[in-house]
Amino acid sequence: MRPEALNPLFAEVETLEGVGPKLMKPLERLGLTRVKDVAYHLPERFVSRRSIADLDEGTEGEQVIIALTAVEHRAPRSGSRGPHRVLAQDAVGNICALTWFGKAAYSARKLLPVGERRWVAGRLDRYGDMLQIVHPDHVEVDSAGQMGRLSEPVYRLAEGLTQPRVAGLVEQALARLPDLPEWIEPGQLERSGWPAWSAALQLAQETTEERARDRLAYDELLANSLALLLVKAEGRRRKGQALVGDGRLWAKLQLPFALTGAQTRSIAEIEGDMAQDAPMLRLLQGDVGAGKTVVALNAMLIAVEAGKQAALLAPTEILARQHYETLRRMLAPTGVEIALLTGRAKGRERESILMGLMDGSIQLLVGTHSIFQDTVAYKDLGLAVVDEQHRFGVAQRLALAGKGRRAPHTLAMTATPIPRSLTLAQYGEMDVSRLDELPPGRQAIDTRVIPQERMDEVVEGVARHLAGGQQAYWVCPMVHDNEVADIAAAEMRYAALKERFGEDVVLVHGQLRSEIKDAAMERFASGQAKLLVATTVIEVGVDVPSATLMVIEQAERFGLAQLHQLRGRVGRGAEKSTCLLLRGGALTETGRARLALMRETQDGFRIAEEDLELRGGGELLGTRQSGEAAFRIANLDQVQRLLPVAHADARLLVDRDGGLTSERGEAARLLLYLFERDWGVQLLRGG
Ligand code: ADP
Ligand code: MG
Repeated sequence: MRPEALNPLFAEVETLEGVGPKLMKPLERLGLTRVKDVAYHLPERFVSRRSIADLDEGTEGEQVIIALTAVEHRAPRSGSRGPHRVLAQDAVGNICALTWFGKAAYSARKLLPVGERRWVAGRLDRYGDMLQIVHPDHVEVDSAGQMGRLSEPVYRLAEGLTQPRVAGLVEQALARLPDLPEWIEPGQLERSGWPAWSAALQLAQETTEERARDRLAYDELLANSLALLLVKAEGRRRKGQALVGDGRLWAKLQLPFALTGAQTRSIAEIEGDMAQDAPMLRLLQGDVGAGKTVVALNAMLIAVEAGKQAALLAPTEILARQHYETLRRMLAPTGVEIALLTGRAKGRERESILMGLMDGSIQLLVGTHSIFQDTVAYKDLGLAVVDEQHRFGVAQRLALAGKGRRAPHTLAMTATPIPRSLTLAQYGEMDVSRLDELPPGRQAIDTRVIPQERMDEVVEGVARHLAGGQQAYWVCPMVHDNEVADIAAAEMRYAALKERFGEDVVLVHGQLRSEIKDAAMERFASGQAKLLVATTVIEVGVDVPSATLMVIEQAERFGLAQLHQLRGRVGRGAEKSTCLLLRGGALTETGRARLALMRETQDGFRIAEEDLELRGGGELLGTRQSGEAAFRIANLDQVQRLLPVAHADARLLVDRDGGLTSERGEAARLLLYLFERDWGVQLLRGG
């Protein structure tokens, strides 16, 4: 049970003043469901603005505060999805546009009555030959607020939230921080000059104080390392079962290709592990298309040959179905019984699968997380394979591992290339096999870097491509890790491309209702729509082989791993594929080198390694938006600097006080709960 001291932090976010049903949705979208989440919702950055007397003083891209008077409201035609624009005038008569998209537009009339002066804070952008501010950060009556707005924290938002709203909630959350004992080793604390936990949170919310942020990051890393080490210790205690196949089923497969060297090597590593008594805990890393499935199949057949069952867990229904179909086809000559179990299976169908698992007649199960449920009992599970493992927590992996009478072997697979130096952080407890060689005959994707100013040419290029009967993706920029602004940008681009391409274009982003999203995806997948405009938030989970062109706007703002993943969506068919990386004007030396690297190679591992060298600190490990981030607080730089220390410290603590019963051990338990690594603690109790 969670220690009581943490209760105020785990109180529902509704207990904060002013949070009603309306705010719940956007808060949930940001993952802010408890008071602690709000306290840890640290500013993305601090904005500093300049107060300008008139628009002539401001420059494009600059953050400003300026007094403006609304002249005219231009609401979108009813039913259209265009923006709401307000034309407003400065003190000397220059006009600029204030623009809102989506639901936020409803408040525009109230905020800016025609003829009345308001203080507006936001970023000046260009709109045709006019300046505009998209989604102003503040619109205020009083000039008094002006000075206070010159420097402010900027939080990540979701539609329905504003900066001041979030700031107010953070303030309330900070007021509720309990006193907690120190879990960091005193010497470490002193050497680093770190503040105590609650002071660190306060400072990180209000200032750019690096030591405060470092401490909070260290907490997270320490919690992670501790939990991983506890899992590892537990694994050593648990008995597995040595499984050795005789190869008779594998020999019956009629593979249309020869295995690559990397596949053969990985298979040998897995065989070696499975033949041991201790349960395997191995990660198979390899780019999209590297051929992970057949490696997994080999492992599953070993289990079946040894008289056990195997289960493959996929993150989505679609992927589960794909795997099931592929495996069923491959297994046809072997006579192995395979079944699919997803949340959709109901009634008798479900019953019969459950029976088959229990009596052992189903030898191989493919499914979504429903194969974890307590109602699913296996006769004798020998191997669990987890595909796209980054989407599942270690806790879930363990839940699956708990199914067998003895701990089954576990093989996790991921297409996210992670530099060697960081695998420890993310997968500390696992051994790693790498498929660092693609099957022969893959076509390289022709990748080019083009300045954003040549947009017109790019659009014409897309037009020629579509005219040739093929399809294309258009990925819109991440404005600044701010969902509202990202979607605004995507809506604008969509509107522009629709003018050019009409009904051939569909738009997909994270805020569309899922029916609308699915319908758009469906139109694209079926070939009715030719061009798919999307933000990166969206999982473009379908495989569309005739989509052979991808345009990525402001490519320099993306992490290279992310660009690599995006690019992997093309190049799937027989046709040659192209990826156009549009870059903004002012590129740093590093920015240039990063894009050049994308042009040069398609090797995900090399991209991951070199990206790490190039960019240094600041970025997150994985991307937060797609839920891939390993850590919520620690960024890449902090992971590199602090993880080795945290890991060593955690090891020392586990060695000395494996039951976490000393005074510091007790504090460390609190830490595990705080970062929701309490599966670590739960293992302790079980063990
Ligand atoms: P991923 O690693 O993305 O899961 P898959 O296992 O789906 O990749 O394999 C991608 C494609 O490559 C499949 O069509 C598969 O049949 C094929 N493939 C796998 N291994 C080889 C190989 N050694 N030679 C040729 N094609 C292969
Ligand atoms: Mg796969």
